[in-house]
Amino acid sequence: MQAFTFKGDSLYCEDVKCTDIAEKYGTPVYVYSHGSFTRSFSELQKSFSSVPNLVCYSVKTCSNLSILKMIHDIGGGFDIVSIGELRRVFAATGDVSKCVFAGVGKREYELTEALEKGIYSFTVESEQELEMLNKCAKKLDKKASFALRINPDVDPKTHKYISTGKKENKFGIDMKLAFELYKKSCDMEFLLAEGIHMHIGSQITTIDPYVEAVKKMSKLISDLKNANVPIEYFDIGGGFGIIYNDEKPIGSDDIIKELIPLLKDTGLKILLEPGRSIAGNSGILLTKVVYIKNNSVKNFAIVDAGMNDLLRPSLYEAYHKILSITGGAGQKGSENYDVVGPICESGDYLALDRSLPVLQQGDILSVMSAGAYGFSMSSNYNSRTRVPEVMIKGNQTYLIREKENFDDLIKGEKIVKF
Ligand SMILES: *Cc1c(COP(=O)(O)O)cnc(C)c1O
Repeated sequence: MQAFTFKGDSLYCEDVKCTDIAEKYGTPVYVYSHGSFTRSFSELQKSFSSVPNLVCYSVKTCSNLSILKMIHDIGGGFDIVSIGELRRVFAATGDVSKCVFAGVGKREYELTEALEKGIYSFTVESEQELEMLNKCAKKLDKKASFALRINPDVDPKTHKYISTGKKENKFGIDMKLAFELYKKSCDMEFLLAEGIHMHIGSQITTIDPYVEAVKKMSKLISDLKNANVPIEYFDIGGGFGIIYNDEKPIGSDDIIKELIPLLKDTGLKILLEPGRSIAGNSGILLTKVVYIKNNSVKNFAIVDAGMNDLLRPSLYEAYHKILSITGGAGQKGSENYDVVGPICESGDYLALDRSLPVLQQGDILSVMSAGAYGFSMSSNYNSRTRVPEVMIKGNQTYLIREKENFDDLIKGEKIVKF
């Protein structure tokens, strides 16, 4: 079952017509499919079912409280990268016992609060952070479980902004140094070396970089075992790609055939940190054509969603399919458009030179595959209020985030007389 399908001319999210959602909540609006979230989660979990596993959803991908609660209720843990994300998980579920905490710049108060709340493990990214974690744990007289994030120096063949496991990236620790640090940690009283971690990039569409990285990691894992460092889990990160346009993502078969045997050999519990592969195709952004404007070289469709609502095209030159979902789109012929937002930046676009059915003022467009790094990257730039989020389950529509208002926009600001 697909989350977003056409019935005749009309796009549906599950059993609800998207133009009805646009009418009820206004545009722009993010729309998510409940079934798609839970299905993508379960399918990934199933591919790894022959090894002991824990799937930790990457909170930064799409972090609405209702979504976190839903993931928790189907057995998911969470990959968090800030204390704000930890507080989100706590607010949504009251349970942070399956959280792993990554990020290169965790501050002392963040480490301390996460220890106090009792997260599962820290993903440590430097020697100084390891020392800081030991210090925080000592103050609380608690043991801190950690994994070192290893930079396995593989090329995930993805956009340079979303590759994270090459030597020139800021993430993780070199293999050689990692071994020394693990040994050193055995003498640090308040630390427990419980895992090993990698996360090599995002939107990865072949299994090869994972295989290459896991092989490198396996060598380190066996060295650690021989040195009596008692690690129990191997966190292979996230990064699984999805179809935005015509990509061929990694299939369950590839995972089972190529990756699982290597993972089994480690004898460790496997953690996963998927984000995009769960959320990406579970959400869309609906936007309305405000004006059409033509000049001698181009047609512009000026829409009410801008780069502050969906940053990926501007930031990564990312491709999102765009569908015109106002009735009868098929019969009008087509034109090429730059689909641009209202923000005062030339880089504010959703698509360039895109062939679309001839558009009119007032048409509703659906920007597809917008569930991951969509709302969560949105901002108030140009003093625009952030848009509402709606969850569809069957024929039910739930508003899971209200549209911001002007008071939200200026909250905390003061008018000082100088
Ligand atoms: C962002 C992130 C993820 C999720 O990546 P996806 O490509 O969305 O699956 C997982 N782990 C870490 C440490 C991350 O920073």
